[in-house]
Amino acid sequence: MLHKNTLLCAALSAELLSSAAQTANAAVVTSLKPLGFIASAIADGVTSTEVLLPDGASEHDYSLRPSDVKRLQNADLVFWVGPEMESFMSRSAGQLPPQKLVTMAEIDGVKALLMKGADEDEEEHDGGHHHDEKGDADHHHGEYNMHLWLSPEIALLSAVAIHKKLVEVMPQSRAKLDANLQAFEASLAQADKQVGNELAPLKGKGYFVFHDAYGYFEKHYGLTPLGHFTVNPEIQPGAQRLHQIRTQLVEQKAVCVFAEPQFRPAVVEAVARGTSVRMGTLDPLGIGIKPGKESYSQFLAQLSHQYASCLKGE
Ligand SMILES: [Zn+2]
Repeated sequence: MLHKNTLLCAALSAELLSSAAQTANAAVVTSLKPLGFIASAIADGVTSTEVLLPDGASEHDYSLRPSDVKRLQNADLVFWVGPEMESFMSRSAGQLPPQKLVTMAEIDGVKALLMKGADEDEEEHDGGHHHDEKGDADHHHGEYNMHLWLSPEIALLSAVAIHKKLVEVMPQSRAKLDANLQAFEASLAQADKQVGNELAPLKGKGYFVFHDAYGYFEKHYGLTPLGHFTVNPEIQPGAQRLHQIRTQLVEQKAVCVFAEPQFRPAVVEAVARGTSVRMGTLDPLGIGIKPGKESYSQFLAQLSHQYASCLKGE
């Protein structure tokens, strides 16, 4: 009798422990920080959100740790751009039940908004230097620019899609989820207006960015990019590309070159040396911003300030 009780007790506490471990796991797991900004606003007060890619890492060369794989397996909902962006998790994502996965690139309405990516060939062939096999195989940047989180329109469609999924998983939290989606829309609309106002006077000021990430943001706000150093940050720009950029800098067509916190290549500084062009920093991933209700708006505002502070100049 006693023996049986002890066993029952052990079984019960094992069950308690495992359910405690489950609640400790994030219910929503996103690949990249800005996706975490969107998801955490919708899930606020309902469930936790975690981000796989650590601050300072690049979306182009991350490798999942075993703990990341576990987090993906235990998540109620996984939110990512898709295999063309986060090749580092395409296998794990493919093993999830499809109803647990929100793929940003496949959300209704997103396909019509996709922008063509720059042609990677021009860069790979012009320097004569080929990147390693893994880089070539992993980065299908060719067809579309997949930095979809930099589009306020796609962010909104994503918020709607995440809301829908979370309502399916947690129908009891519908009222809170509805309120969160409304709050996200209002916050986004306000941020969009502020960013539009800040960037409007900077139309026509040319600049170069380090990697080809910002197309959606630039198009939305009418900025005037002259080009990028590289499509894939893992591939160094070729000599011809650098020469073109240098020529345009010397002819004063550009007022800024932007590096990134994830990449501070000497090549950006070298190309700007001896010209009057200013150096700035753009952060496509929102380092330092904590996921939460207002975080996506903060992210847009931060990026806007980063553009403005360099392009405005004196
Ligand atoms: Zn990128």
